[in-house]
Amino acid sequence: MIKVKKRKFLLLPGDGIGPEVVGEVKKIIKWFNKNKSLDFEIDEDLAGGVSYDKHATPITDEVFYKALECEAVILGAVGGPKWDDVEFSKKPERALLKLRKELKLFANLRPAICFKQLVDASTLKPEIVSGLDIMIVRELTGGIYFGEPRGIKPIDNGERKGINTHVYTTSEIQRVARVAFDLAKKDKIMLLLVKINVMEAACFGKRSSDYMIRIQDVELNHMLADNCAMQLLRNPKQFDVIVTDNLFGDMLSDQASMLTGSLGLLPSASLGAKNKEGKIRAMYEPIHGSAPDIAGKGIANPIATILSFAMALRYSLNLDKEADALEKAVQSVLDEGLRTKDILSKGMKEVSTSEMGDAIISKLQ
Ligand code: NAD
Repeated sequence: MIKVKKRKFLLLPGDGIGPEVVGEVKKIIKWFNKNKSLDFEIDEDLAGGVSYDKHATPITDEVFYKALECEAVILGAVGGPKWDDVEFSKKPERALLKLRKELKLFANLRPAICFKQLVDASTLKPEIVSGLDIMIVRELTGGIYFGEPRGIKPIDNGERKGINTHVYTTSEIQRVARVAFDLAKKDKIMLLLVKINVMEAACFGKRSSDYMIRIQDVELNHMLADNCAMQLLRNPKQFDVIVTDNLFGDMLSDQASMLTGSLGLLPSASLGAKNKEGKIRAMYEPIHGSAPDIAGKGIANPIATILSFAMALRYSLNLDKEADALEKAVQSVLDEGLRTKDILSKGMKEVSTSEMGDAIISKLQ
């Protein structure tokens, strides 16, 4: 068997159920190494509360430099009540923010897929969500969460005012729009969400992306973000790829994820710019948190993390065939009626975290 060059994944399992769900990805990586002509290297380290406990910081410089060097970071989840009283700058979540900021991961990809086998898990009617497959691309490093001026300042009349600034440059808008265009190229229509009716910066964003559309062969429509929030509940299947700013993306991607019924199923990717060799910095993680209520019980659903790894194969390594195979393996296991506790319904077979991982691997065979 011809082996290709070693490609290193940095696994940061983190806190709570993180180590359990990332453990299943580790098994899958080992399976690919053993059974396919791939040679993935695994490095594993601490991030989040576990890092704080050992090193008094949510992420050490050493781990951060490993993240800079590797092909992709696979993160479990960070945080939990154990660290509630830790000072703000040392909170487990700061590890995530540091990685996103310093790796310049500006495009957050959040698919909202409603598996046909799990259509009853959604709070919406089956006919509204069955077959749902939306990709939300959220700008992650700009906009109102980072804009200056910001803060709380005294004003003349003895009152104070709170300030945050929504600001985007042309290049910030165009680089995230380009990521969405690339995704939309595969026969999808893209939608840019802004509030052009009330925000000058939004009009500017629309103009910047409209300019790009002339050089890309994709259909681009615009919708007001508040209308999109309504349409996501009314008729979510009208959407394909949605690209939006940091604030609206934060809210709408959470809303879209709930259409699908379970947090344990949804992956995400955060991507940086392509370098000269065409490689991108990237971090992949499930959208759920550390689920302290079920940590250590062996019942966490590993599918969101496994699908995040499939996204890593697709977007960081261009291994579409392997990503497809892994996604199909997940579908087959669901077809067979295997369910972790969070998605269990009548007549289905309950399995543990590791049984779910093993079943997915057996479908890869
Ligand atoms: P959560 O996503 O951890 O849990 C919400 C609910 O969903 C819980 O009942 C949990 O048991 C369930 N759940 C989540 N993932 C599951 C899975 N894979 N399988 C089965 N059930 C699952 O959200 P939360 O309770 O609000 O947050 C817990 C901690 O996680 C907090 O400290 C929060 O700050 C942190 N958090 C971290 C991230 C991250 O690391 N990216 C994201 C969100 C929350």
